[in-house]
Amino acid sequence: MTVLRNHVGGRFVESGRTFDKTSPVDGTTVAVVHEADAVIVDAAVAAARRALNGRWGTSSVADRAALLRRIADGIEARFEDLLAAEVGDTGKPVELARRLDVARAAQNFRSFADTISAKGLDAFLTDTPDGGRALNYAVRKPLGVVAVIVPWNLPLLLLTWKVAPALACGNAVVVKPSEETPSSATVLAEIIAEAGAPDGVFNLVHGFGAGSAGELLTSHAGIDGVTFTGESRTGSAIMKAVAPRVRPVSFELGGKNAALVFDDCDLDRTIEGLSRSVFTNTGQVCLCTERVYVQRGVYDEVVSGLVEAAERLRPGRPEDPAANFGPLISQTHRRKVMSYQALAVEQGAKVVTGGGAPALDGDLAAGAWIEPTLWTGLDNAAAVMREEVFGPVAGIVPFDGEEEAIALANDTEYGLAAAVWTSDLDRGHRVAQRMDVGMAWVNAWYLRDLRSPFGGFGLSGVGREGGEHSLHFYTSPTNVCVGLTGPWSAEEAS
Ligand code: NAD
Repeated sequence: MTVLRNHVGGRFVESGRTFDKTSPVDGTTVAVVHEADAVIVDAAVAAARRALNGRWGTSSVADRAALLRRIADGIEARFEDLLAAEVGDTGKPVELARRLDVARAAQNFRSFADTISAKGLDAFLTDTPDGGRALNYAVRKPLGVVAVIVPWNLPLLLLTWKVAPALACGNAVVVKPSEETPSSATVLAEIIAEAGAPDGVFNLVHGFGAGSAGELLTSHAGIDGVTFTGESRTGSAIMKAVAPRVRPVSFELGGKNAALVFDDCDLDRTIEGLSRSVFTNTGQVCLCTERVYVQRGVYDEVVSGLVEAAERLRPGRPEDPAANFGPLISQTHRRKVMSYQALAVEQGAKVVTGGGAPALDGDLAAGAWIEPTLWTGLDNAAAVMREEVFGPVAGIVPFDGEEEAIALANDTEYGLAAAVWTSDLDRGHRVAQRMDVGMAWVNAWYLRDLRSPFGGFGLSGVGREGGEHSLHFYTSPTNVCVGLTGPWSAEEAS
């Protein structure tokens, strides 16, 4: 049985308490995990502080960029180990994890090595507002000890998305992966150590949120900031935990993302993109579409195209080449998604496909399987059109005009992502610019340039990460103002 330990100050450490991580595919135990207690969290924060006070604290941008590139090489060298860890924890199809999760982890490190090399930290020089009488500039310093808390849906991708810029900027991190996906972070700890990061630069604590390692970390007096990806209500709890010490936070939270499909779209391309946006990773991507607004002229075709796409999905073991659809992450999450399915029907939905759980035989019967599900007949007041379900589900609603579509899409407390499907380029730009979201795609979904800003409006987050935006969060500026002597007038000199 795989045993997963905490990684503190360069050493793997056990705790007095363990929990089992089970597979969502068949319910078997994947690993026994040592849950960090207050002593271990304290030790991790202290180790991070020692690293900052040691040679890591004076490392150069060039040294750190080189470290990030070695970590990326290490990820590629241990690609199959990371793949096995990720697939074992999540049950997602191997091919999806290969293409998306693990590949992006290496890209995350390379991208931030490039960004920091291009920008340096001196790229934040300010203009000199006082002409020749003073020289103002800003030095950027690392934030310090950064707590990194991430969810289970794209575990390694989201962890490295935060660890890479944090290390690029010279911080030391204490990371807490989700209790549902502890495995890949443990392999990453080995890779980062092997790449030559000083002890204490990357610390890993395992456990749950409230009352466990997550809360112990976010309420710890020794942390200088929190970067978090997860549910909006968890973001709110973390905000409260850091409030007494007023620490900066960067939050990437939930979404209730809309797709807007116009009559003039390229139908084949739209249905292909839409179905990916609803069903990828069993709908467990924060960017997934859960609300589809379709102009009336193509409504029937879009509904039937999406139904066909849903019915082509095949559940099965991650390594089964005939399968392309994984389970939900856990039985708990499955119960939540099933309860939304029931609520949708109660509130008047017509289930056009799915609506339940597939009857799978043998070992798979114990897994957290769910059917891809599409609803029609709902309006924006329905709970499943307002609350994030985080499953392979969407409500499809017709509209007549552009203004109506924009109003429907923006009628939400969330504001993470939107996708506009149209062949009219003017309309594409016009509508995308009016979406109150962090990322608005036109004829695309989840197409990412890692240098562009990523984050959300409203319940979907606080701040932006990505490229230079990340460098801003993971550093703090000190403005230095050098007064210059000169023949100023007596009045000004006083
Ligand atoms: P979650 O908020 O339940 O858990 C996320 C992490 O926070 C886990 O590591 C968990 O242990 C920890 N945690 C929970 N309560 C805590 C507390 N009180 N204090 C400190 N830590 C705590 O989220 P989840 O169910 O793991 O992930 C799904 C959610 O993540 C969805 O809402 C999804 O939209 C969101 N998400 C957002 C993005 C984005 O970039 N915006 C990306 C992926 C996922």
